Amino acid sequence: MRYVMTMLAIIAAMSVCASAQTASAQTVPEITLTRFDCGTSQAPTDVSLRFTDTYAYSGLKIQIVYSCYLIRHGDDYMVWDAGQSMSAGAVAPKVSLADQLAQLKLTPQQIKFIAISHYHADHIGQVGSFPNATLLIGKRDWDALTKNSESSVPFAHWITGAGKLETVLQDKDVFGDGTVVMLNMPGHTPGHHSLLVRLKNKGPVLLTGDLAHFRENYDSDGVPNFNTDRTETLSSFDRFKKIARNLKATVIIQHDARDIAKLPPFPAAAH
Ligand SMILES: [Zn+2]
Repeated sequence: MRYVMTMLAIIAAMSVCASAQTASAQTVPEITLTRFDCGTSQAPTDVSLRFTDTYAYSGLKIQIVYSCYLIRHGDDYMVWDAGQSMSAGAVAPKVSLADQLAQLKLTPQQIKFIAISHYHADHIGQVGSFPNATLLIGKRDWDALTKNSESSVPFAHWITGAGKLETVLQDKDVFGDGTVVMLNMPGHTPGHHSLLVRLKNKGPVLLTGDLAHFRENYDSDGVPNFNTDRTETLSSFDRFKKIARNLKATVIIQHDARDIAKLPPFPAAAH
């Protein structure tokens, strides 16, 4: 009898062990991060004209690029920012987001979340390619853009109520496990967000959105003269830099050509 009890206890312990392994496999899905080219770069820009409200960066010319990203979380996919529109003239992407996804053997229908850092045209151009995805966007940006006919055009599908929409007032832990978090970083626009992606091998990565447009802008807490709120921008810089320091994160400035190489070149992904 004692032998049977012991065997039952061992079997019970083994099954607990097996279910614990299953649970841990479920709670740590594979997460990858891939950069898409989301616009065609023009000649280097004199950033002293628009990207400062304190007459900084005199004579500095910066190569601006346009970046979107794919985040894989286990079996789920999210796209961060929708880039320039295919009809944006000289800055239109050479290859659409849908066609870049096809090179990864994915379709727009497989994207669960289309998340937008802010409502400017160079970040929303192809959002309409993801009608089945849940749109994640800062609430204060959503409230502003739905009053602005120009910015609202690409979002028609969600404005009419046909698409799934979740507006984000503060932070948004997208998958509920802390691995992919939209961070409330207002100031460039009222509802602007940055994105934290915690990768197993590379470690935490912070995508700036347009909190900063280039390295010198980031290092000097520079405020472009077209930002919606100077105080909020400076507060967001303070928070973002503290997060970067505490997590020892890789900071990627989405518009800075010098930061492209911080991720493997498309179609490869960081893990
Ligand atoms: Zn931008």
